[in-house]
Amino acid sequence: MEGMMMHRPLLVSTILEYAMNAHRKAGITSVRTEGDTHSYNYPEAGVRIAQLAHALQARGITLGDRVATLAWNGYRHFELYYAISGIGAVCHTINPRLSAEQLIYIVNHAEDRILFLDTTFVPIIAAVKEHLPEDMTYVIMTDRAHMPDTPFPALCYEELLEGQPGQITWPEFDENTACSLCYTSGTTGNPKGALYSHRSTVLHAFTIAISLRHSFGEGRAILPVVPLFHVNAWGLPYAAPLVGASLVMPGPALDGPSLFALMDREKVYSAWGVPTVWMGLLAEIRAQGRKPENFGDVVIGGSAAPKAMIEGFEKMDISVGHAWGMTEMSPVGTHGCLPQWMEALPFEERIAAKAKQGRRVYGVDLKIVDEDGRPQPQDGKAIGELFVRGNAVVSGYFRNEEASAKALDAEGWFGTGDVASIDPDGFLVIQDRAKDLIKSGGEWISSIDLENAAMSLPGIANCAAIGVPHPRWDERPVLVAVASGEARPSLDEIREHISPHFAKWQLPDDVIWVDALPMTATGKVSKLNLRKQLVDYEHPELRETA
Ligand code: AMP
Repeated sequence: MEGMMMHRPLLVSTILEYAMNAHRKAGITSVRTEGDTHSYNYPEAGVRIAQLAHALQARGITLGDRVATLAWNGYRHFELYYAISGIGAVCHTINPRLSAEQLIYIVNHAEDRILFLDTTFVPIIAAVKEHLPEDMTYVIMTDRAHMPDTPFPALCYEELLEGQPGQITWPEFDENTACSLCYTSGTTGNPKGALYSHRSTVLHAFTIAISLRHSFGEGRAILPVVPLFHVNAWGLPYAAPLVGASLVMPGPALDGPSLFALMDREKVYSAWGVPTVWMGLLAEIRAQGRKPENFGDVVIGGSAAPKAMIEGFEKMDISVGHAWGMTEMSPVGTHGCLPQWMEALPFEERIAAKAKQGRRVYGVDLKIVDEDGRPQPQDGKAIGELFVRGNAVVSGYFRNEEASAKALDAEGWFGTGDVASIDPDGFLVIQDRAKDLIKSGGEWISSIDLENAAMSLPGIANCAAIGVPHPRWDERPVLVAVASGEARPSLDEIREHISPHFAKWQLPDDVIWVDALPMTATGKVSKLNLRKQLVDYEHPELRETA
């Protein structure tokens, strides 16, 4: 219709330009892999991002090309986010904790043209280099003085930037252009790529800035402990500049004492990450008998936040926001900041409310359905598989027709594989997981892949891999196995046998021998019953400390 609003594309470069202009004093402080700390403001970041964008263009990178990063949280990684996406290429963040097989698969599947890596990850690439594309360019994210010896030809990041102009007119293109790519582990087989668009990324940044508003604020320092290779650090590299908050990037040291010292020094107000890292920080807070000076807000997601952890933070006057989401959702779906009337409730009731996964953010619709796909009431009692819909939810997977075909239901909702209830106040409670995955320290392990690998050992007739509770890692995999004869392979033999296909941390911690596995009516192993049977099971490490 004539006389309507303008259409300006929602591009991530507009966030950077805005922050450079309107939030000149805010910026980024990073613990560098070189060992020191680096700080600059958004205008200074913008100059280097322009230089990097020119350097990428000079190497022929153009709209739609994939450029990979294998890096910790630091300012150079932030620069890559904006430079790559700014020129219309796709920033593919790689998780260094993947197994060698998975890493080889995703780099080839994404057809990455350049791979930027931190010095610490040189051994990872050296080990798989011969399986990566021959014409790949490698750039080490450091200066000449710190360039490591590499068994493959590599460029130096700082040299790449040298001599490039510090200004750029960011190109304008369709807001539905791909912006970044993040692979997530599937229940079996190869990881699947979630491809974010500029539009979805900008909208998601708006969404979290509004729904998680307690964490944000102009001039506040926010610490993404969640890696930039985990769903764009939950959107923080976009939402922080948008609101004029500063980012504190922790580099590789994520243990409690290192985080405490960094937060204290940089006056971090809000910190975001998975429960595993908060175990370490809480222990340090207890050891020191105080919290980091300005610490007032923690966002816990990726796995369920244990009640004791929520209580631990809240008792120190640190407000907990318990978030739920997925790689496929950019990622934030729900967030547990309480409505005002609930804030007035007694402490115990508030903690119980915060242990739930919270209410949906604007832009995400939720439904729970029964086994036949029929929507269930949101009465806090009915439990069903959780489906979601929204502007920042995938409609399929990158170049993966098979997985894409299974992703959505007939009405176009995305199936999360989580089993949940939703109460009349809108609070989501994740009750179980329908997908065959184990989450350890915020990272996935495919139970089906573990089972298939273990079953190729002659001594195992049948087995099931399940996640058992672990105080530090949230869950750890154990194998419940039925022997095929008298001779049972030992745990070490099983681990040895399957180790070529998995990262070390993905191997099972224990094997439990049983006569038979519980089955469902349709003849599948009933993981639900198995988990019930093992309620009293204790992880070997807990037995040792008991
Ligand atoms: P990812 O794609 O790696 O971010 O993992 C998403 C999955 O992690 C979800 O589908 C849930 O199974 C699980 N998850 C994420 N956040 C939570 C939470 N707050 N409570 C329980 N499970 C969670």
